[in-house]
Amino acid sequence: MASASPIDLRSDTVTRPGEAMREAMARAPVGDDVYGEDPTTGELEDRVAELLGHEAGLFTASGTLANMLGVRTLVEPGKELIADSLAHVVRAEMGGHAVLGGVTTRTWTSPGGVFRAEDPLAMMVPDGGSYSVSTAAVAIENTHNFAGGLIADIDELRALRTGTADAGVAVHLDGARLANASVATGIPLREYGRLADSVSICLSKGLGAPVGSVVVGSAERIAEARIMRKRYGGGMRQCGILAAAGLYALDHNVDRLAEDHGNAALIAGAVADAVPGTVDPGAVATNIVMLKVGSGGSDGSTAAQFAARAAERGVLMSVLSSTTVRLVTHLDVSTEQAKQAAEILAELAADFSG
Ligand SMILES: *Cc1c(COP(=O)(O)O)cnc(C)c1O
Repeated sequence: MASASPIDLRSDTVTRPGEAMREAMARAPVGDDVYGEDPTTGELEDRVAELLGHEAGLFTASGTLANMLGVRTLVEPGKELIADSLAHVVRAEMGGHAVLGGVTTRTWTSPGGVFRAEDPLAMMVPDGGSYSVSTAAVAIENTHNFAGGLIADIDELRALRTGTADAGVAVHLDGARLANASVATGIPLREYGRLADSVSICLSKGLGAPVGSVVVGSAERIAEARIMRKRYGGGMRQCGILAAAGLYALDHNVDRLAEDHGNAALIAGAVADAVPGTVDPGAVATNIVMLKVGSGGSDGSTAAQFAARAAERGVLMSVLSSTTVRLVTHLDVSTEQAKQAAEILAELAADFSG
């Protein structure tokens, strides 16, 4: 292990609150939020609803819970949600939509991870009658985590909105990293938000809060989601301490996401220069870089070995498959550290390409 503290690119969830955020948390007025009496949580919920162009918001302990509640307000038990095959809602939420919500799913495959409205639109069965499962909602993810932080094109999202509305099908937007999309494109959060019936956004990813997400929708749906949150065990008491971190993050950590995007581009560029084909820098849209590193060939080199070698040199990452690793830049990685990481990864990639 390198002696200095490692450059942790496993995820943008690893950020720690700094002094100013902790001060905001310590000062927050609080009350019992299950009684609806926590002013700071109320302020955060109203603020995020406003930002995303919806009537109401609900603070949750995780993005997974925010997605489960958003989806469940759109899909009744026994109906279906359709989603991209790499979507967080189907791959990384431990089956919660099915186990707790009774929601069934089908998936489409997006070539290269690029969202096309035609894929879900062609699959929908809005009225399955007494034979097929009826499609109640389509889930989209923006940015798309396991597709490498790709941004869904706004015109495709508009086409999805029109096509689903015509069929009476709802849209849930998993916007865990929607702020990254908005900063990268300059399209306001509200523009994205209004193209969906429910939207979740994470405060604990690139925005740097220690805990929390918000799900937004109509006042009626959010009232329903509030009841379900309590049912799932997610009612929180003096959570204004946590909501204050979210408010601080919205005030201070949105515009700076551009630095994370620049750092991701820098890393991708250096590795692509060293070993073309490892990553297409043009495909790095936000703060996530996917590297193809395991040859899978006779030497048996794998992405896990690449990650282990990088860890020995002080750079941490996630292993997504035998040939793919994921690097995520964030608030706690400086441009200087991104340059160091880029140099180390470029050298290792060259070693691995043999
Ligand atoms: C991180 C993430 C979530 C929520 O994750 P939690 O760990 O439950 O907060 C949801 N969707 C996407 C795309 C994510 O990356």
